[in-house]
Amino acid sequence: MIVINCLHIGIDDTDSPDGMCTTYLASQIINKFEDNGIELVDFPRLIRLNPFARFKTRGNGGVSLRIINDDKADLAKRIVLDEVEKLSMFDCENTNPGVVFYDGEITHEMEDYAFRAIYEFITIDEAEEFTKSVGCQIHKFKKGRGIIGSIAAISLPLSDYTFELLAYRNSDNYGTKRKIDYESVYKMDKQTFPDTFENIDYSEDYIAIEPKTPCPVLYGIRSNTVEALKEAMEIVKVSEPIVDWCIFKTNQHTDMHIQKAENISSMKQFGCYCVTGEVKNKPKIIDGGHMFFYIFDESGEIECGAYEPTKNFRKIVSHLRPGDIVKVYGGIGEQNTFNIEKFQVIELNDVEYKNPICECGKRMTSAGKNKGFKCKKCGRKIESNEKVPVVIERKLENLKFYETPVSARRHLSKPLCRMDLEKI
Ligand code: ATP
Repeated sequence: MIVINCLHIGIDDTDSPDGMCTTYLASQIINKFEDNGIELVDFPRLIRLNPFARFKTRGNGGVSLRIINDDKADLAKRIVLDEVEKLSMFDCENTNPGVVFYDGEITHEMEDYAFRAIYEFITIDEAEEFTKSVGCQIHKFKKGRGIIGSIAAISLPLSDYTFELLAYRNSDNYGTKRKIDYESVYKMDKQTFPDTFENIDYSEDYIAIEPKTPCPVLYGIRSNTVEALKEAMEIVKVSEPIVDWCIFKTNQHTDMHIQKAENISSMKQFGCYCVTGEVKNKPKIIDGGHMFFYIFDESGEIECGAYEPTKNFRKIVSHLRPGDIVKVYGGIGEQNTFNIEKFQVIELNDVEYKNPICECGKRMTSAGKNKGFKCKKCGRKIESNEKVPVVIERKLENLKFYETPVSARRHLSKPLCRMDLEKI
């Protein structure tokens, strides 16, 4: 095996809600690298971290690049720092870029750190101490919070991954309506799904490849393969210039944020898990359109929520009934409620206990507390108070998965079209 001595570069926290995108900054760096004969090893990486991180702009993503560590490494570092200095949104209080350079092998403790950055909260001090302890060179701009994500973006192993093609706009067009031919997006989805996915939310007629913020991205297409991305880009038509595009290797849609919880009480707030429990009550909708119900196991119970943005998913959730066993996937948010991303029905409770049916064919009614049942039609009485089990028809199916729509999907959530459902 040939071992290449690489320089790893991590960049994070360069954008703000008013503009920029760390992926765009990375694409500019890559262009400058090309101009100077500096080659990337593998694809640039876009790594999504803890979805609950407090200071995220949108999807909590950091970027990492890998180049050969040769006599051009110092020039590469200069290019990276110059571009971060030039393009970051320094005016925004919450933009605190951090750049990390590392020229060794990725160690197990670095991998562990990266998973912590997905599962937990890390402070700037902690990240700084860690990066220094493993021999990284760090550059903090303002508070330098970006180093937390930069070192994670460098270190995360990608046992599962997807790709995203990002097409960038001319800066004159930033903040204006994107000129994307939606018909061509439908065509692209038809021709390339499921190799590409998350293109359109058909239930909402929502074009998911189009960002809704004033950032440099014109569109982003997600896929399992680079070939499908190139095909998709050929099909999507736009009537504004694409000044640049770049394909990132990413942990998006891999469920890497989901930890397997042993039981309900072992889960912590701001963590993302899958856990199995029994439905305690019929799901209820409250003002604002959010839907809630409880699940329990021998260790405790937790409220589960399907929020208003999940739209029709709430209709599916409303079919759950007490006694159903479900495996839910999602995260525990601000209100300590388990925010469901998807669930699998493990076992439906398809038995309902009803009053017995009289010999005359009519369902009997209660004859009073502990007085058995009586028939209103023929007057017959029985002494037993026992209701009888009746198998009812259910709208949900045993072992089937149900997921939130594309428009409400988290970057890290694995869609069903990527799951090996047969195996599960
Ligand atoms: P975009 O998706 O547009 O790139 P963003 O949502 O990624 O924006 P950033 O501007 O990168 O937002 O800000 C996220 C900040 O949170 C960064 O400073 C990053 O270092 C930090 N961060 C990432 N993971 C964690 C974590 N686990 N704990 C604490 N801070 C984190």
